[in-house]
Order: sequence, then C-alpha cells, then structure tokens
Amino acid sequence: MNLPDIGKKRIVIIGAGFGGISLAKKLKNLDVQVVVIDKHNYHTFQPLLYQVSTSGLEPDSIAYPIRKILKGLNNFYFRLATVQKINVEKKEVVTDIGNLTFDYLVIATGTKTNFFGNTSIQEHAMPMKSVPQALNIRSLMLQNFELADDAVTEEERKMLMNFCIVGGGPTGVELSGAFAELKKNVFPKDYKHLNVEHMEIHLFEGADRVLSPMSEKASKKATQFLEELGVNLHLNTIVKDYDGENMTLSNGEVMKTKNFIWTAGVTGASLEGFSSDTLVERVNRYKVNAFNQIEDYEHIFAIGDIAFMSSNTYPKGHPQVAQPAIQQGGHLAKNFDRLLAGKTMEPFSYFDKGSMATVGRNRAVVDLHKLSFGGFLAWFIWMFVHLMALVGFRNKVIVFFNWAYNYINYDKAARLIVRPYSNKK
Ligand SMILES: Cc1cc2nc3c(=O)[nH]c(=O)nc-3n(C[C@H](O)[C@H](O)[C@H](O)COP(=O)(O)OP(=O)(O)OC[C@H]3O[C@@H](n4cnc5c(N)ncnc54)[C@H](O)[C@@H]3O)c2cc1C
Repeated sequence: MNLPDIGKKRIVIIGAGFGGISLAKKLKNLDVQVVVIDKHNYHTFQPLLYQVSTSGLEPDSIAYPIRKILKGLNNFYFRLATVQKINVEKKEVVTDIGNLTFDYLVIATGTKTNFFGNTSIQEHAMPMKSVPQALNIRSLMLQNFELADDAVTEEERKMLMNFCIVGGGPTGVELSGAFAELKKNVFPKDYKHLNVEHMEIHLFEGADRVLSPMSEKASKKATQFLEELGVNLHLNTIVKDYDGENMTLSNGEVMKTKNFIWTAGVTGASLEGFSSDTLVERVNRYKVNAFNQIEDYEHIFAIGDIAFMSSNTYPKGHPQVAQPAIQQGGHLAKNFDRLLAGKTMEPFSYFDKGSMATVGRNRAVVDLHKLSFGGFLAWFIWMFVHLMALVGFRNKVIVFFNWAYNYINYDKAARLIVRPYSNKK
C-alpha cells in the first residue's frame, strides 16, 4: 500500500462503522499516523437501512463519505480496501490493494448476515446489512408489484405480493411495520387496478416473542402494534428452507413468496490470521480483555460488534448495537493516549442508555432502564434520537424533511427502481 512513513506510530483501524469512526475522531489530538480502511467509501447508519428498503429514504441520507468525516484531521489517511488477513507476526494488514504494516491495529469490522449454514436460503434470501442490499429489497419489492399488476393468475399475483420476513428482532419488526404502512397508505394510490388487500406481510420468529433483547412489556406492545397494522405474526416458528419461491417452515407448512427477507441473525465479520481460540465459537467475536485488547495480542484491539468482552454485568458480551461500539471507540482513544504516554490503560465500562424500536407512524417502544413505554411519545423519542445520531448536518436536515413530508402526506417518496434487482448473481 502506498502510504508515507511520517516517522510517527501508525494506528490502523479496519472498519469505519460506529466503533471505527468514534475512535478515529477522538484520536485527532494524538501525535500518531491514523489509517482507516473500509471496503466502502462511506459510513452506513444501519438503524435506518429499513427505510431505504421501504422507499422512505434515499441511501445518501443515511450514508456519509468517510473522507469527509476525516477531512479536518491531520495525519489521517483513508484507503478503500477489503482486508483479507492479518499477518500477526509481521504486524501487517493484507488487503486487496496491498499490505500495510502497523504499530497498533484496531479491528472494528462489525458483523455479517448469518444464514446458519443453509446454502439455499443464502442463495435466495434478501439480507439487509448494507446500502446495496437495502436498495435490492426496494427494487425487488417495486419490481414484484409491477409484475403483480400485470399477472395473469391469482396464484402468481399473491406470490408476488406476499412478504415474508424472518427474524423478529428490531430489524424484522421495523421492516414489517414499514411494509404494512406501504400497503395501507401508498400502494393503493399507485396500483389502482390491483387489489392491494392481497398484499400479505408475515413475520417469523423462532422464540415466543418479538424484540427478545427488550423487556416483555416492549414485546407485548410491539406485538399489539404489529397486529393493528395487519402483520401476520408467527412466533415459535422456524423457517427451514427457501428455494426462491417456496418457503418451508419447521412444521412442514409451505408458503409461496417472491419476497423473502432474512434478518434472523448475524455473525462476526472476523479476519484470517489469528489462532482459532481467539474467537468465541458460533458468534465469531474476538475475545478481548477490559482494554479491548485481543487475548494474547498486545498490539491488536477489537471494538464494537466484533469484540466479545465478558464482564460480571455482561457475561455473554455487550449487546451488538451502536452504543457499545461508540463507547468502546471513545474509550480506546483515551487508552491510546495513556499507552503512548507510558501510563497504564483503564478498563472499559459500558453505560446502557436504553433501547428502542419503531413499528410505524406514532408507534414505537422504548426501554429506559426500569421504565418501558410505547406509543406516540416513544415514537417521538425514537425519531429524535435517530435524527441526532445521524452523521452530518445535511443528512439530519434531509431525513427530517423526508419524515415531515411522509407524515403530512402519508407518502414514501423514494419509490424508484434505479438499479433493477436480479437474483442471477
Ligand atoms: C438493519 C440493522 C438495523 C440496526 N438497528 C440498530 C438500532 O436501531 N440501534 C442500534 O443501536 N443498533 C442497530 N443496529 C446494530 C448496529 O448497527 C451495530 O451494532 C453497529 O453498527 C456496530 O458498529 P461496529 O462499528 O462494530 O460495526 P459496523 O458499524 O457494522 O461497521 C463495520 C465496518 O467495517 C467494514 N468492514 C467489514 N469487514 C471489512 C473488511 N474485511 N475490510 C474492510 N472493511 C470491512 C464495513 O464496511 C463497515 O463499514 C442495526 C444493525 C442493522 C444491520
């Protein structure tokens, strides 16, 4: 990789997600060279991806150029590259555009979709972890509605208008609610000659409640909201297979659908080069100590979703949401400051700010420590928190105006098939 040696210690950060960006911004006052590597040239605000999928927002309002985030910072470099491996002995990062040595390495690569080894589902399902994937869902949904409008048989039409979402976590719940609102408010106006009542939304969850990381009260409220919106909820139901048309459930039932969205799980986006006991099995997260150092690797750290830091309060590691990543990034920056000054590092401690999910207009649920509530106030808080958390003033303004427009007009304006989706990969 063509990077100058400026005679300062080099910190390489892999991943410009919530953790990587939070760390990079806070390293600005340190006398070091910082190199940020990401396979995308933009930071993605994943919590709002579902609004891109369901025509509520354009992708450029939830993504932000990484170079623009780093532009005011001296001695900061960005490289658009996919990291393939770490040569831990040589302290070297191996990427598709070349290799780079480091003094300190921070892995902040987040997670990728987990298909639990089912190759048929992997081949045919629509995941939603990135902007291109969210756009794929949007295109597929609109293409299938166009086909439904022209379908000859009832069976074909229903299959094209049947939406099956797997995974009752926040993403599955938010997507289902947004599809239900399209059915209620938008599609009847667009497809006047189509009986939009035939659009079905099914949400499948293996556990006995949706939003299982949240309180029981929040789950109950979210269930009530989903039912009010006409979402068919299938709890205690495992989806076994999908072949592009037929979805098979654990009870043997088969349902036909052309819209199969997989939000059922994630696994760490780990990198090659470490000994196998560095990772926690199944979840694929790096075992780190209280300073985010990967066990046995003094110069290599992991933060955010990819890091597994077990503590008394979080024996199974921190929840894989934005706050632990942001807080660990900020904390590690302080520890780098201490490390470079020859001081001992301080252990990380997570401050839980609560959790929330939205189901649709005026409907959201919030868990705030012992307090749990749902409805308009929760929805308002959800909007405010997400608006404030977006990177960039322009994005905040665009999203605000989009939401205001959608609220007043019962509309979702981003209904364009810009890049048609084809499952012939
Ligand atoms: C659809 C969806 C909705 C969500 N909603 C919420 C929510 O409402 N609230 C909440 O708190 N959390 C939510 N989350 C979770 C939250 O987004 C994650 O916890 C958070 O992004 C973790 O931050 P991170 O920095 O660890 O990883 P990420 O933000 O995922 O960043 C990882 C970065 O690493 C890059 N990368 C990965 N592998 C490589 C490689 N090999 N080479 C180069 N670059 C690489 C990626 O391109 C990415 O930019 C949601 C997640 C998803 C997918």
